[in-house]
Amino acid sequence: MNEIEYKLYIDNVIRRVETARLKVSDHLIVKIVAVSKYSTAEDIKRLYNIGQRAFGENKVQDLKAKAKELEDLPLEWHFIGNLQKNKINNLLDINPSLFQALDSLELAEELQKKLKAKNMTLECLMQINSAKEESKHGFMPEDTISAYTQIISECPNINLKGVMSIGAHSDDKQVVKKSFETTHAIYKQLPNATICSMGMSGDFELAIECGSNMVRLGSIMFNK
Ligand SMILES: *Cc1c(COP(=O)(O)O)cnc(C)c1O
Repeated sequence: MNEIEYKLYIDNVIRRVETARLKVSDHLIVKIVAVSKYSTAEDIKRLYNIGQRAFGENKVQDLKAKAKELEDLPLEWHFIGNLQKNKINNLLDINPSLFQALDSLELAEELQKKLKAKNMTLECLMQINSAKEESKHGFMPEDTISAYTQIISECPNINLKGVMSIGAHSDDKQVVKKSFETTHAIYKQLPNATICSMGMSGDFELAIECGSNMVRLGSIMFNK
């Protein structure tokens, strides 16, 4: 695709997001985070040039390399992957604008210690394992609300903004929908939460219809 074709292609993705959110409400504003984990710095620059600012990575070393290579651009970096404790300092060095995958109380405690030592705060989302899948990280739905409150009281350097979830791994749309509804119902009960991050390339319209206000789009944004 040349530049013009790519711009038209992205306009169409944005239109699909718009159509889905207007079915819910004029007031539902949905932010697109372009997940660049399969893409190069060159690909990111191309998308930046047609207006995209928020990008997400799921490996600390990849985020570090791309953030460094693109440091002259005013990008907003999101970390969306599982964070190992020994990588926390590497992540904090990049100072990402949002860490979307806070998935255990243990990680929250470790993160709090490191943030305090660096005199920093970090905006985070709690990851919910909404369909209770073995293969996924995150809090069990029934544990999320109490854990959220606990992190607010015990981790003053963690600034919780809401929740993130990956839709159920299923071909049955009703099963995927149920997992999004579970996440959204929890989100609505959290004090001061403003971000409900759910929906990827294959299911973002359904996620938005269930109340998502942040979609993480990888393959579809980079046409891979
Ligand atoms: C890779 C990834 C995405 C994007 O996936 P696509 O299907 O390519 O849109 C979104 N969220 C998380 C947590 C991911 O790891």
